[in-house]
Amino acid sequence: MNKLGLHANVWVAGWSEDEAALAIAKTAETGFDLIEIPALDAGRLRPAETRKRLDAAGIGCTLSLGLDAGTDISSGDPALMKAGEDKLRTTLSVARDLGATHVCGILYSAFQKYFEPPTQAGIEASAEVMSRVAGYAAENGITLGMEVVNRYESNVLNTAAQAVAYCRMVDAPNVKVHLDAYHMHIEEPNPVEAIRATGADLGYFHTGESHRGYIGSGSIDHAGLFRALVESGYDGPITYES
Ligand code: MN
Repeated sequence: MNKLGLHANVWVAGWSEDEAALAIAKTAETGFDLIEIPALDAGRLRPAETRKRLDAAGIGCTLSLGLDAGTDISSGDPALMKAGEDKLRTTLSVARDLGATHVCGILYSAFQKYFEPPTQAGIEASAEVMSRVAGYAAENGITLGMEVVNRYESNVLNTAAQAVAYCRMVDAPNVKVHLDAYHMHIEEPNPVEAIRATGADLGYFHTGESHRGYIGSGSIDHAGLFRALVESGYDGPITYES
């Protein structure tokens, strides 16, 4: 059975004590299984306190983030790659302390618009870092989701097929493809087919509308997407991002 979740930004824009309390309480009250907590700066998540709140509310969590220009592991620059690997490891330590099952997002490059195409050497360097980070994640029972995003947010993984190829390169059982309905609507010629083609490599899924608004008020074929998820045997988390 898929765990259903809400991205914390559905409720709050930050993670102060009040915001954490509200977002966790509302997510539990509305019947969801987990909350996805943005972890652009995992050091500010107060893991002990947050975990206590999650346990009291009876829900789990996942974390999501994107790297930045100073931590870009697809850059080929050794100093930036080292900083990126350190950032991912720090985030994973916090994820472990929170009891998070998944860490996902733009973990493989900076979360930014690039003005040049990626290089093969950069993609391979990113995959090499990811395979080391995957080992640390596996020690803590954490799955990593490589989120496929539109061209204005990264130049490395814009299609499901690119993400499957990247995961093959990393070659770790806990590194999976993370698809997002909103991004697929921009980049995939056929999002339903993209889910089918990803198949067992899918490890995390974001629902959302074509304009990030209320589900049903945009142009995404949710029935088709969910049918494809069922047909693929997908049993991982499904979280709503808005
Ligand atoms: Mn997303």
